Amino acid sequence: MSPEMPLKPGAVIGILGGGQLGRMLALAAARLGLRCHIYAPKGDTPAFEVAHQATEAAYEDGEALAAFARSVAVATYEFENVPVEAAKAVAALTPLAPGANVLEVSQDRLLEKSFVRDRGIGVPDFLAVSSTEELDVALKRIGRPAILKSRRLGYDGKGQAMIAAGDDPRQAFQSIGGVPAILEAFVPFLAEISVIAARSRDGSFAAYDIPQNHHRGGILRRSVVPAPIDGRTVEAASAMAMRLMAELDYVGVMATEMFLVDEQGGERLLVNEIAPRVHNSGHWTIDACSISQFEQHIRAIAGWPLGDPVRHSDAVMENLIGEEIDRWPALLAESRLALHLYGKSATRPGRKMGHFTRLMPGD
Ligand code: AMP
Repeated sequence: MSPEMPLKPGAVIGILGGGQLGRMLALAAARLGLRCHIYAPKGDTPAFEVAHQATEAAYEDGEALAAFARSVAVATYEFENVPVEAAKAVAALTPLAPGANVLEVSQDRLLEKSFVRDRGIGVPDFLAVSSTEELDVALKRIGRPAILKSRRLGYDGKGQAMIAAGDDPRQAFQSIGGVPAILEAFVPFLAEISVIAARSRDGSFAAYDIPQNHHRGGILRRSVVPAPIDGRTVEAASAMAMRLMAELDYVGVMATEMFLVDEQGGERLLVNEIAPRVHNSGHWTIDACSISQFEQHIRAIAGWPLGDPVRHSDAVMENLIGEEIDRWPALLAESRLALHLYGKSATRPGRKMGHFTRLMPGD
């Protein structure tokens, strides 16, 4: 391994994963004179179109992974379900940031929630469940409504089942495939927020202003920045993210999703999940900040100084999901609106096809 940090312009960065996050990372890297080599399995890979080099191969293909790792100065990932074994194979040959240790924690909801809770940071009540008998016991302790979430391979609300009064727990367990899961208390939150923050190789930390996130059907619809939360909550949220990132020895951008809850008149934050990558709720940083989350991630992994995350405009980011992509001509006609289309070949319901950011007029 030859970590020649900081990377020089012209160096090649490897990205595991070929989706829209990889695409926006590669675009940000190109602006800084860096090149990207994207590694992704067969499928729709919008990142390939904007990359210096692309490898289409399975995450289980050891030879292809080794060739990829040898061709890059540093590697990263844009997808948290990259198999840990693939990440480790790459990390054996080139510096990988964030490390494979982070994937291990974030791929398993039980490990993830325990990791956060064990650091004294609040999370919704949860219990591990791997059979219907365990589910019955957990339901008695957690109460209803509760959410059953598969431990692994869940994102955008997939692998989840709500269990409200009158619902049959067995059916819920079946609906997630009867796989090992956690049962989590349903949180009647005031708001959902996320901390998008970066940590550099030398341990410095920079957080963006905090957006409020609105979901529908488990999928992010809209992020509004700044979130209507007070300064103390902002500081507490950033401190939690900083603590978690330091504990993970994290390098790069990470999102920490949180619920803001009302507790006996005060406000409290509970961590929902961590996403070890650039994040959908940070897309507004491209248009409302001089340094986007994508550039910030590239800077961090390249051993460059972090940029100032300052925001110059209030902004609302909205996703274009499925057929909503057809709104593009009308959106192009709006002023103060930046449109981003991901170039995906097939439109499917629930699929993120693009997003737009509306910049709000200042005072
Ligand atoms: P997740 O995949 O765990 O991030 O869940 C997706 C979305 O479902 C979250 O952003 C919330 O809107 C909702 N959700 C997840 N867990 C809970 C919970 N314990 N209480 C209330 N809503 C939740």
